[in-house]
Amino acid sequence: MKLYNTLTKKKEDFIPIKEGEVSMYVCGPTVYNLIHIGNARPMIVFDSARRYMEYKGYKVNFVSNFTDVDDKIIAKALEEGVPAEEVSQRYIAECKKDMAAMNVRPATVHPLATQEIPGMIEMIQTLIDKGFAYDVNGTVYFRTRKFDEYGKLSHKNLDDLRTGGRSLLVSGEDQKDDPLDFVLWKPKKEGEPAWKAPWSEGRPGWHIECSEMSKKYLGEEIDIHAGGEDLIFPHHENEIAQSECCNGKTFARYWMHNAFLNIDNRKMSKSLGNFFTVREIGEKYDLQVLRFFMLSAHYRSPLNFSADIMESSKSALNRIVTAVDNCKHVIETVAIEELTANEGEKLQEIKEYRSKFEEAMDDDLNTADAISAIFELVKFSNTEVSEKSSKAFAEAVKEEIVSLSDILGLLVDRRAETLDSEIEDLIAQRQAARKARDFARADEIRDELLAKGIVLEDTREGVKWKRA
Ligand code: AMP
Ligand code: ZN
Repeated sequence: MKLYNTLTKKKEDFIPIKEGEVSMYVCGPTVYNLIHIGNARPMIVFDSARRYMEYKGYKVNFVSNFTDVDDKIIAKALEEGVPAEEVSQRYIAECKKDMAAMNVRPATVHPLATQEIPGMIEMIQTLIDKGFAYDVNGTVYFRTRKFDEYGKLSHKNLDDLRTGGRSLLVSGEDQKDDPLDFVLWKPKKEGEPAWKAPWSEGRPGWHIECSEMSKKYLGEEIDIHAGGEDLIFPHHENEIAQSECCNGKTFARYWMHNAFLNIDNRKMSKSLGNFFTVREIGEKYDLQVLRFFMLSAHYRSPLNFSADIMESSKSALNRIVTAVDNCKHVIETVAIEELTANEGEKLQEIKEYRSKFEEAMDDDLNTADAISAIFELVKFSNTEVSEKSSKAFAEAVKEEIVSLSDILGLLVDRRAETLDSEIEDLIAQRQAARKARDFARADEIRDELLAKGIVLEDTREGVKWKRA
């Protein structure tokens, strides 16, 4: 499998550090609002990458954080007159519902920045001890000049940045030795959440959060680090500087970045106010349509959102669902059970579509071409599966369409959705785990249900559930 590596600007063969295993870290959202469909792009893209790598037999350790301490969260909490934690917890829960509704599987671990402060303090201390960081009146800065490779990911000319940066200094930042030095720790302002540290009572900078969470859950050197392309500079550049200077190892081997989701050919963002939340789109469309739309373009190509494109995505996805339904109708109604010799030969033909699918995905996750391969298969199904077919033939074709779609997380066999009885069973298991005070298992089951699009609600009358 080849992946485009932002670090080398080349497509490279993917060779994991440990054979058969992949460690992958995806920068998650800052939780102060419902996520918008721009935020959904990395979620859908990298969930599909994970699914494909699992399909290829890798064991994927997939970590994605929630940034739950940040200026925007604090501002929102002040506005509402509630603790910051209440805001972040609320939007983490909402984000998980949106993920489930888009069939984005929960990560192996979803660490929270606020739960990992001691590890961050330790990393900052190591950086100070090694001379890569300095404390000015309680604010700790990273000394970018000391890291020779600073700029290697974003391929930026640092001297230009430095001269440009002088005039960009924000007030209070003039104590820095260099405009490119960035904050590792900052003292608290009145009313802000804060933790005790050797330099001041305060909170970590954004970049150090990911360096620490990646190290804790995946190790000092990982296979893939990913996120939206806006994170290349400064966020990922700074993560590399911190981690490599602290640990003395390559931080991540492959850097993957998705291009932006635009609207009217402008980047969709909260600050520009030109966004739709996943929730809003979910009111109009099955979110499978959104998933299909996101995967219909290569993840490194900009994607423009419009009502028209959602409508055409809806009908395209429907064509796959209808082909599956037709196969099911044939399975239920035809008399011939066994595959005929002619059908056996025909089935050899469909292997070609799977090869095309794999070839596309192996080429830097070209989901657009992978979807084209599914459509070729749909066309085959529409011409070859009929009331003259055997059950076995219709079944085999149906299975092929469903399984290729499934690798992309697209649910096209509508009746294969989780049965109510399975859900009840999992809920009973969760109750038993809770009773046994095995809360980790209970949470695991809740996440498993969430991944199936089932949201649990603990009420006084017991646990209730609904489809997200
Ligand atoms: P944020 O909450 O802004 O930190 O964003 C969370 C993730 O969503 C990051 O990986 C961003 O790069 C990504 N992201 C934000 N806006 C967009 C967009 N319009 N298109 C694609 N990715 C985006
Ligand atoms: Zn990050």
